[in-house]
Amino acid sequence: MRAKEVDAKITEIPRRIAALGNRVLDGGLIDREEAMFLFGLENSADIHTMLSWGNRIREHYKGNKIHLCSIVNAKAGACSENCSFCSQSAAYQTGSPRYGFIDPEPVADAGKEANRNGVTAVGLVAAWRGLKEGPMLDEVCDRIAEMKEQGQTRPDASLGLIESQEVADRLKEAGLECYGHNLESSKRFFPEHCTTHTYEDRLKTIGFLKKAGIKICSGGIIGMGETREDRCDLAMSLREIGASVVPVNILNPIEGTPLENQEPLPPLEILKTIACFRFIMPTKEIMIAGGRTVNLRDLQCMIFQAGASALMVGNYLTTLNQPVEKDLQMLRDLGLDPDWDEFDESEAGGCGCGEKDSCGTPESVEVAEAVTA
Ligand code: SF4
Repeated sequence: MRAKEVDAKITEIPRRIAALGNRVLDGGLIDREEAMFLFGLENSADIHTMLSWGNRIREHYKGNKIHLCSIVNAKAGACSENCSFCSQSAAYQTGSPRYGFIDPEPVADAGKEANRNGVTAVGLVAAWRGLKEGPMLDEVCDRIAEMKEQGQTRPDASLGLIESQEVADRLKEAGLECYGHNLESSKRFFPEHCTTHTYEDRLKTIGFLKKAGIKICSGGIIGMGETREDRCDLAMSLREIGASVVPVNILNPIEGTPLENQEPLPPLEILKTIACFRFIMPTKEIMIAGGRTVNLRDLQCMIFQAGASALMVGNYLTTLNQPVEKDLQMLRDLGLDPDWDEFDESEAGGCGCGEKDSCGTPESVEVAEAVTA
């Protein structure tokens, strides 16, 4: 290749990244083909260029505020589902703890600790297929109402599949503001890691929650053997369903699960994925959750440069995280502020395009048909 051609190639890619970045800063969206161009970047210099755009987009829409969340494992292990990444599935021998639904005290303690650390929300997480009407729903609603009354943090929950509007409405009445329910991966890849429920089941759950007026925290896990196309399609689906918070988990392979020997993703590929998510969903809370310490190691602080605006702190469900104090120090060192207030209501349920009246983002159970069509 002649020198002139090489120069043209060198400048063409950064120029294209900048054009997409400027469009997003101006309130526009990128389409799937443009997103795939970003996911496909290979050259380290191009990836770093893109990360800096991810940072600019985050700063433009989120300022220096970082949303912190933590979770409490409210019911552990012996889950009937067979998600291939999960140590809590009864299908795998992992030695993960098992216990029934917890009493009020540990939940109250988690709220107090979160409050001490400036954490905005605590999510009640249960390892089971889902939540139906009955005594367990009553107990869950009691815990949520107690957390709300305690007033220390925002009560969130991630309690699996919901199969009726009544259950979603009960959660809303109890005071739930935000429900975590990941799509996990693309529609195409989903059946390769779970066969006990479907992608459509997950979308229907999200539809019931949205109709009840509960905000959606939904993301996925990367590094399970999916392709870049799968990651791109996951992000496009998350934009479609109007997730307010988008957790990006990075697989931490657990011994005894089918993914125990899965090759880890290179850190730059992880950071690039975070930046792609920021380009695709510029106004949403892109939250880095499980697997960041083990997969990113010394590059953890670069998640914010890539565009992350939220962080899961404290221990994960079955694996350890770095101490909260270390995370808070990291934020201080970067000039970031964990004093997050509340959701920007103008974003709730929207796709971030800024065209709420003419935007085609589906609002309720229609999300299922829209995304799976
Ligand atoms: S991810 Fe949730 S639904 Fe799947 S096996 Fe684990 S606890 Fe069960």
